[in-house]
Amino acid sequence: MAEGATKGDFYVGVDLGGTKILAGVFDPQLNCLGRNKISTKSERGADEVIDRIARCVRDAVDECDLDVKQLRGVGVGAPGAIDVSSGRVIFAPNLQWQNVPLKKMLEKDLDVPVSIENDGNSAMLGVYETELQSKPRHVIGIFIGTGIGGGIIVDGKLYSGYNGTAGEIGHMVIEVGGPKCNCGNQGCFEALASRTAIFRKITAAVKDGQKTLLTDMLGPELNDLRSGDLRKAIRKGDSFVEKVVEEAAEYTGIAVANFINIFNPQTIVLGGGVIDALGDEMMAIIVETAEDYAMSGTSKGIEIVASKTGDDAGIIGAAVLARRAAKEKS
Ligand SMILES: [Zn+2]
Repeated sequence: MAEGATKGDFYVGVDLGGTKILAGVFDPQLNCLGRNKISTKSERGADEVIDRIARCVRDAVDECDLDVKQLRGVGVGAPGAIDVSSGRVIFAPNLQWQNVPLKKMLEKDLDVPVSIENDGNSAMLGVYETELQSKPRHVIGIFIGTGIGGGIIVDGKLYSGYNGTAGEIGHMVIEVGGPKCNCGNQGCFEALASRTAIFRKITAAVKDGQKTLLTDMLGPELNDLRSGDLRKAIRKGDSFVEKVVEEAAEYTGIAVANFINIFNPQTIVLGGGVIDALGDEMMAIIVETAEDYAMSGTSKGIEIVASKTGDDAGIIGAAVLARRAAKEKS
């Protein structure tokens, strides 16, 4: 057992994604003691996925030589619209879930208090409480991965809106008549700047005969393309890949400018797999574009920074949720 900790002082944070489930075990100071990852298998239906979440939590805890009975809580960041008070997933297109009582089912399985939240909101909370030490009062978090999630902190509190679904920043329309989005709309931020959008643009161009180093690296079908491959190609001088990534950075900068105009936050923090892999290539363009598009004088002193938490933001944020819920109870 970790030094200074007593029985019942541990938390597990779960990052539930469309393709993988990540669980991290944390001590009371939110140091990560160990983690576990399994595939989601969403095609098998909600019951089976919830079984898998429970198994992923148990195995992560076991790897740390702990027992589930020593947990004070489990937090889950889930994709989609969440009813936080009842712990139901209202709608999660990536999991093909509708109205799933995730909290209730997991509590029954694990016999531990469970808190759930939208994944973008929970990642925002994680970065806010750990990396930013809850210091800035107004913060916007933008997490760019397979999709784009985010969170809004106003006056030190997560802003959840009237129906609790605020912070769906990936579905802010940036280009009218632009590419189709998973949500059914067109021209959403997510459809323009997510990893999925960037990869779609690259594969379509390659099909049309575009030359790129990526085909030398991965073959003509670009099998198993990752964000890190884009970075490698750019650093080897691939101007086509560089241009596609620049365009995504420009769209992100426009999104940031909208947030500056509407919220005038103190800090805008960017994270997720795409920023992790391509931060050096994208951040300067994001900042420059944001300053170009924000109303004159409004961006003065605002920090636009890349998160250092990386892909762990999901599990850390979920652990923060669990710790918050335990503190509210005690
Ligand atoms: Zn959308």
